[in-house]
Order: sequence, then structure tokens, then C-alpha cells
Amino acid sequence: MELSGKNVTVAGLGVTGLSAARVLAGLGARVTVVDGGDGDKQRRTATALEAEGIAVRLGDGDTLPEGTDLIVTSPGWKPTSPLFTAAAAANVPVWGDVELAWRLRGQDVAAARGASAEGGGRRAGAADWLVVTGTNGKTTTVQMLASILKAGGLRTAAVGNIGTPILDVVLSDEPYDVLAVELSSYQLHWAPSVRAHSAAVLNIAPDHLDWHGSMAAYAADKGRAYEGNKVACVYNTADPATEELVRGADVEEGCRAIGFTLGTPAPSQLGVVEGLLVDRAFVANRHKNAQELCEVSDIAQQGTVAPHNIANALAAAALARAYGVEPQAVRDGLRAFRPDAHRIARVATVDGVDYVDDSKATNTHAAEASLAAYEHVVWIAGGLAKGATFDELVAKSAKRLRGAVLIGADRALIAEALRRHAPEVPVVDLERTDTEAMTAVVDAAKALAQPGDTVLLAPACASMDMFANYGKRGDAFAEAVRALHNNR
Ligand code: ADP
Repeated sequence: MELSGKNVTVAGLGVTGLSAARVLAGLGARVTVVDGGDGDKQRRTATALEAEGIAVRLGDGDTLPEGTDLIVTSPGWKPTSPLFTAAAAANVPVWGDVELAWRLRGQDVAAARGASAEGGGRRAGAADWLVVTGTNGKTTTVQMLASILKAGGLRTAAVGNIGTPILDVVLSDEPYDVLAVELSSYQLHWAPSVRAHSAAVLNIAPDHLDWHGSMAAYAADKGRAYEGNKVACVYNTADPATEELVRGADVEEGCRAIGFTLGTPAPSQLGVVEGLLVDRAFVANRHKNAQELCEVSDIAQQGTVAPHNIANALAAAALARAYGVEPQAVRDGLRAFRPDAHRIARVATVDGVDYVDDSKATNTHAAEASLAAYEHVVWIAGGLAKGATFDELVAKSAKRLRGAVLIGADRALIAEALRRHAPEVPVVDLERTDTEAMTAVVDAAKALAQPGDTVLLAPACASMDMFANYGKRGDAFAEAVRALHNNR
């Protein structure tokens, strides 16, 4: 679609909407940004955009502006929004920012916008995409992947849901060979024509069901990552839902399915597990064709190797190998990798007890992976449950629990699950939802812990009932732990 002169409505005035609106205006489209909010911050942004010739309508995100030819939406907008119902009735297409980026790639947009073509490499517009999605582990895997690709001498960036809007990179002046693209289920929903070089779906567990409407719809959106893959579809052999998506995908001829596993693959899976196993003995004994890439200790973080991070490393290695990166670069890249904050980060060791911040474990699937990394855990949990149930998580983790400290709006749901599946585990229900609660949380956890134990903040819930975001929750925890450490 030629965008110059078209009436494009951008839904949402956040980071994505801003980035999209400016790009579209730069391409000559007549842009109107709509947003249901009407706060001070939004008004300030609106004033700035209007000065650039971009129209903004605040306080009404539902009505389709007259004459709209195309909607470019921010990922948070639900498919059931009245704006999209109106668009469907009027036959107006809806793209996400990822779809827009994909359609602009291949065009020499940067040159068209006056940017220089120096650098000698391929423009981002032509770079291949290696896509990572899944319920948990996306950011970690994409960062591992980018680290490996860099170690392999490739010009790359980690983009997408990870924070850097993909549009900014696709249209930048930098030449890229390949992009490590993290896509959320929301972004995939609105990106029907993306065709990755290769993609990985790490795992599928219930999350964001209020947005997607059902588990089937959520999985189907994740499965979009595989559509049209050219070289490899990477899936998790321990998660049948991911394998099912590979089977259902319409891929290019010759595209391979590559399964990764932490265990011993079943004979039927031997053909698909190749070249990406970390365990030296396992590779030597079982896979004559498999290539040893690195050792588990290469991806240890502060001495801890969480099993889910081995899985993430395998997925990243599989994508990199599918792209042709040498085994040595996989090892170097994984060794160089450092995780983002609030992901299994050890804050301090006090009186022989490790205090670990995994505030990013905002759903039960993530918390389960996190708990599985430790033998004896005092578990700090609670917050907004987002409709989740906790029975399975508690039943699976019960044997590791030395105790539990509960906070936040939905803590009663976790308390009930603990009563049902771990009645012997001592529980401190703090009945608090204020930001100052973390000091009391850490004190309560300290009282339950024994030397050698881990006090783990892995809330299995969102943070917004008490904190601005999971980062602030982790910071409050770390601060309380450091105070404990300093006051000993
Ligand atoms: P995402 O970008 O998908 O939210 P992150 O890499 O930021 O994923 O990790 C989020 C949390 O999910 C981590 O803090 C950890 O608790 C958990 N996690 C990470 N990788 C996995 C995995 N492969 N399986 C299950 N849980 C995981």
C-alpha cells in the first residue's frame, strides 16, 4: 500500500503510537492519533505532535475518524475495541507497528527520507528477522540471541516488544544483517504478513486471556510466528502446544522443525534435536551428529543456572545456528550474555540466605520455572492474579517451600492454594498492599529462612495493585534486602 496521501488513524498515544505516527507522517500520510485518555501528559504530547502537523484526538478512542484508509494500532488495544468493529464494517485494514515495519522493509525508506546509505551492509529494511515469542522467556532469549549474533560478527539489534520500537530500527540509518525480534501475542495478532527467516515459540501457558478471549485464540496468535518461515521453526519438545503450532504452520518448502529439550529426546524426536545441546555427556552419547556448543556453566548467572534459562539458551542457539552462526560464536555469545534486571537477580546473601529478585515472574508459569531453580525456598508472592489459578503451581512447587510470604490484592487465592496443596508450609499473610510493605515482607521471609535457603521474590502476579510496574516492585524488594544486609 502506498502510504503517501492516505488517511491513517493511529490508535494509542504511547511509545508505539508516537513512533508510528511520526514515521507515517514522514512518509507523507495524513495522520490522526486517537486515544481514549485525556490527561496532562497526553495533552503535552498532543501539542508536540500537532506542531509537527499530526492531528490528535484525545478522549475518544472508539469512533473511527471519517475517511480513514488504514488503522495502525498500538499493541495494547483489544481486538474487541469499538474502533476495530467500526473498521471491519467499513473494510478498513488494521495493522500493528510490526506489520507496518515489515511492509516498509525492503523498500529503501531510509534513503527516501534523506538518510545516507553509507555503511556497506544491508539496510535494516532488508535484514532478516529471527523472531522469538512465547509466554515467558522472550526478552532473555532475544538478548541471548543478539549476543550470539554479535559474537558471530553480524550487525544486529534486539528489537520489538523488548522496548526498542521495531519501526525505529527498520528505518534507521544503521545497516543491519539480521534482527533479533521479540514479538508479543498482541503484536503477532496485528502482523499477518510477517515472514521470519526462522522463529521460536518458547512455551505457551495461560496469560493475557482477557485480551485474546480464549486460550485457543492466544495460541493461534503465538503460532503466527511460524507462518511462512523460511529455514527453521524452533519449538519446545516439553511443551506439546508449541509442537502443535509447528505442525499447523504453513512454512516455505525445506523449512525444518527443530525441537529443543532439557531432557532426553524420545526416539521420534531424535531427528529434530540437533546441534544445540548443552550437556556434554548427553551429546557424546546420544547424538553423533550433534554439535557441542557450550557447557551449562557458560550460562551460569552468579553461580545459578536456572533450568528455564538453559531452555532459553537452547532456543537462541537453535535460531542462531539456523542462521548459519558458527558454534564458537554461540559459546562466546552465551558467555557474554547478562540478563536484564529483576530476572533471577541475586541481591545479597545475608546470614547464609540468598535473596533473589525475580519480580519479572508475573504469571504462574514463570514463577514455577523460577521456583524450580532452588531447593529450599521462602517464596514471596501475590499481587494481581489476572484471572489465574494457583493450584498447579503450588502443588508442583510444594516440596521446595520452606515458607511463603503473601502480599497484594489477590493473595487470598494463593493462600487457599497453599492450604489445599501444602498445608504444612508456614504462610505469613501480610494483609498489606502499600508500597512500604517490602520491609515487612523481607523481615517475615528472614524469620522463615534457614542458612542455605533462598528467599525468592517470584510473585506469579502483576504488580500494579501496589507498584507502578514489576521493576519498581523489584527495586523495593532489593532496597529492603540491602537495608537488612547493612543493619546486621
Ligand atoms: P518475557 O519477555 O517473555 O516476559 P523474560 O525473559 O523477561 O520473558 O522472563 C520473564 C520471567 O519469566 C523471568 O523472570 C522468569 O521468571 C520466567 N522465565 C524466563 N524464561 C522462562 C522459560 N523459558 N520458561 C518459563 N519461565 C521463564
